[in-house]
Amino acid sequence: MAKLSVRDLSARGRRVFVRVDYNVPLEEKDGRMVITDETRIRETLQTLDLLIEKGARIILAAHLGRPKGKREPTMSLRPVAERLADLINRPVAFVDDCIGEKVAQTAGALKDGDILLLENTRFYREEEANDPAFAANLAKVADLYVNDAFGAAHRAHASTEGVARIVAQRGGQCAAGLLMERELKFLGDELENPARPFVVILGGAKVSDKIKVIDRLLEKADTILIGGAMAYTFKLAQGGKVGRSLVEPDKTDTALAALAKAKQRGVQFLLPADNVIATPVDTGKVNKKGKPVFDFVNLKTVNGDIPDEAEGFDIGAETARRYSEVIKGAKTILWNGPMGMFEDKRFAEGTNVVAKAVAEATQNGAKSIIGGGDSVKALNKAGLGDQVTFMSTGGGASLEFLEGAVLPGVAALSDK
Ligand code: AMP
Repeated sequence: MAKLSVRDLSARGRRVFVRVDYNVPLEEKDGRMVITDETRIRETLQTLDLLIEKGARIILAAHLGRPKGKREPTMSLRPVAERLADLINRPVAFVDDCIGEKVAQTAGALKDGDILLLENTRFYREEEANDPAFAANLAKVADLYVNDAFGAAHRAHASTEGVARIVAQRGGQCAAGLLMERELKFLGDELENPARPFVVILGGAKVSDKIKVIDRLLEKADTILIGGAMAYTFKLAQGGKVGRSLVEPDKTDTALAALAKAKQRGVQFLLPADNVIATPVDTGKVNKKGKPVFDFVNLKTVNGDIPDEAEGFDIGAETARRYSEVIKGAKTILWNGPMGMFEDKRFAEGTNVVAKAVAEATQNGAKSIIGGGDSVKALNKAGLGDQVTFMSTGGGASLEFLEGAVLPGVAALSDK
């Protein structure tokens, strides 16, 4: 059922509690915390501008990092309030708490179009526990509720679910913000009846992370292209040799079941015909996290089996070419997960070739939807982020939504 949109709200003079995703990266510089990427703040401006235009009194709530229920000064949202004020070109009030007397006073003094940002909701353990009393405290300042934090919508936390439920019980409306609305449109509605051919590209590390998505999309897609380490579990399942590649030997049955379903439904299911492999050599060094650092020698492309001492890190050039051909013929494209270990540029070529094909197909009229996480990073790294139809802002939330799961933060919103 379609959810109410922030566009539908009559918000003049009302206090609107807006859950946003301000989980921005911060770095300490000269004793101050500095925001190193403000994308997430910028992405809320559209919704905030609309609410200002509507005369709402805006109360923003968000989490930052994982303070685990403690006040953690390095995870304060104060720098976000300052940055937001610059970006939106008006004052943004900040209270160093998200519940209590100070919040009530400041929220009570807001005039139409004013903005207040509350402190990190996760400074309270009750946030993640979705504690009803804590949610009721948050809801004290809320006449209406808007959720624009798609990336946190798969969690039933107090600020993403509990507050909405309380506002709704009081007869208040709960709506999707503009960013959330776009996520629901592209990851949801647009994929219900996609223009065909509908090509799905899935990569990443593990079959177990993506199997529910594969299973659901096998009912909708015309073609599924598989890359990333995930492909090696399929290869193993088919009796191939995968050397030291990242695999899940206990998931070969799952892989075979997916292949059988594809065959039964007439879905073209392509696996890499060639792979870029290398032999990992322990350097004896450890990284910042204490993990051993490997060097890679004997880089080459092989067809067929991967030798015992080697590991597969990317799809080969032949596979990339074949996948590109299929992608360029698509009318709808959904991509989730890189084709290889793209963080190392020696193994990024497959992902980059696929990214270029997706951009080209989009230019020629296809709708391309990037399902969040590392594929978004890879596209941005390739400089093609603005050449696709839609890039999801969610990681885990996108994946769960694509699996067909009901996200608690979405379920809590009012139906249209
Ligand atoms: P995911 O979060 O499941 O989309 O997985 C993304 C991660 O999978 C990235 O960090 C990639 O480096 C990693 N990855 C993809 N292919 C491989 C591979 N062949 N070997 C090791 N890691 C890989």
